[in-house]
Amino acid sequence: MSAATLSRPLTLALSKGRIFDETLPLLAAAGIEVTEDPEKSRKLILPTSQADVRVVLVRATDVPTYVEQGGADIGVAGLDVLLEHGGAGLYQPLDLRIARCRMSVATRVDFDYAAAVRQGSRIRVATKYTQIARQHFADKGVHVDLIKLYGSMELAPLTGLADAIVDLVSTGSTLKANQLVEVERIMDISSRLVVNQAALKLRREAVRRLIDAFARATEARSS
Ligand code: ATP
Ligand code: MG
Repeated sequence: MSAATLSRPLTLALSKGRIFDETLPLLAAAGIEVTEDPEKSRKLILPTSQADVRVVLVRATDVPTYVEQGGADIGVAGLDVLLEHGGAGLYQPLDLRIARCRMSVATRVDFDYAAAVRQGSRIRVATKYTQIARQHFADKGVHVDLIKLYGSMELAPLTGLADAIVDLVSTGSTLKANQLVEVERIMDISSRLVVNQAALKLRREAVRRLIDAFARATEARSS
């Protein structure tokens, strides 16, 4: 970590949308107000009411990279994103219990999933989450042909591209609208605090203070 990195404000990486929106109240509880609305501004670096803390806006999937490589000291990332990224070089001190949803397998209503996953069979699965899907079917002893997609996974079983999808589900209304059914829940998903290893040592006090404030805010919200 360079001298320039050490003298800059403590930098928190967030993605626009639900993670930003749901982190904001936790920051506010820690006495940190973000004064600009990212949906209205084009700025990628946002000051806060504390001169020594700033927010940088990055793509959700880029948060682990920014934090691991020191572009940010701390970040908030979904468990899905962390599992796909690997997250080996990241300290993960806290489940913030925000942006909650689940990772599930879904198929067409008329697809016999139970028969398809019998030991020794093969299944074609389309997903953005290839690491999670590979691990899940390996654990079940099912041979899987993974098809990597970047969006609109619901379309894959409808067009014959795949037998099943592995995707995030919250209400299930998107699946329902496309005549798909959730046939298996793989895991619950929420967003975690991630911390750069060097920052944890070299900016120990400031980082600790922020982690503790997040922990108190998370506790207060769930009790
Ligand atoms: P974009 O939607 O801009 O392409 P993204 O999908 O990576 O980007 P978000 O939709 O903001 O970003 O999702 C961020 C995180 O929120 C995901 O990594 C996941 O952990 C969680 N998430 C995704 N979809 C939902 C949902 N429907 N309900 C609750 N949490 C969700
Ligand atoms: Mg999204």
